[in-house]
Amino acid sequence: MNKTQYRLIKKTVSYFSLLVERISLCVGSMAPPLLPWKVRQKKFLTHDVFELILARPEGFEFEAGQYLSIVVPGAGPGGRNLRRAYSIASPPETPDLELCIKIVPGGPGTTYLNSLNEGSELQAQGPFGDFVLDHDQSLPCMFIGTGTGIAPLRSMILSKQWNSTAPVAFLLGVRAEQDIVYPELFSNDRPKALAQHSHVKIALSRPTGPWTGYRGRVTDYLRDLQAKAEWNLAQTHYYLCGSGAMIAEVKELLGAQGVAKEQIHMEKYF
Ligand SMILES: Cc1cc2nc3c(=O)[nH]c(=O)nc-3n(C[C@H](O)[C@H](O)[C@H](O)COP(=O)(O)OP(=O)(O)OC[C@H]3O[C@@H](n4cnc5c(N)ncnc54)[C@H](O)[C@@H]3O)c2cc1C
Repeated sequence: MNKTQYRLIKKTVSYFSLLVERISLCVGSMAPPLLPWKVRQKKFLTHDVFELILARPEGFEFEAGQYLSIVVPGAGPGGRNLRRAYSIASPPETPDLELCIKIVPGGPGTTYLNSLNEGSELQAQGPFGDFVLDHDQSLPCMFIGTGTGIAPLRSMILSKQWNSTAPVAFLLGVRAEQDIVYPELFSNDRPKALAQHSHVKIALSRPTGPWTGYRGRVTDYLRDLQAKAEWNLAQTHYYLCGSGAMIAEVKELLGAQGVAKEQIHMEKYF
């Protein structure tokens, strides 16, 4: 190789390294920033689920259904920080952001978040996630959440992005009466988006009192709908959020009804 060829190769290599560096810088700068967030309010929604209301940092935008990645300081191995994901339960149009957090006894993330109070500051990055409204809203739609899995579904249904006039079902699955979060979504004076729909239900798997609502799990509710031929499951879009077990069970049931994968949108918490 002569000197000219050597210089040409060197120049080409350094050009490509520069290009790679620029591309990674661009990709890096696309990641949302880690920001300080102030806790405006904390209140318990049930015996083991609390709501954190966070003041929105200036310029922060998100789409209904997305989540924040919250830093859990020093809770990891060797005192390193951990991260935990929390869906935003409020719609994008609300000035403050609401999170709905279930206490997991001994869990580092929820122990830390439960230690915060009005005026505390936390570090979070976001928004993240592609569990967002993404279907033709002239088609029927079902929202199915278990436990705090109702959070992103609440954001979606209360958001301005939701403007469907097609049939809607909105189901919350929890164990018992004392686990019901956001009961106002299911009450007689529920929000406009749900007001004219009849399949807006709380399913209790193990009610402890004289529960007159639906008894069973959300999958039982779907089976009942199918048995009574009250809903065309195959022609519906689905937003599922909660435990992996619930999601797997609902997906299997829907798959057997000929529901295509593309019709099922999901966010698995654990
Ligand atoms: C995209 C995404 C969004 C999420 N949004 C929320 C949210 O809005 N609200 C919320 O409470 N959690 C949410 N989670 C779960 C959350 O990130 C944590 O996993 C949870 O708070 C437990 O964290 P931990 O460190 O306290 O306990 P860990 O030690 O990390 O968890 C211990 C165990 O707790 C169980 N667990 C985790 N989350 C829940 C839950 N929500 N309900 C019941 N049992 C649970 C699981 O079995 C898990 O293995 C979300 C998870 C993901 C991936």
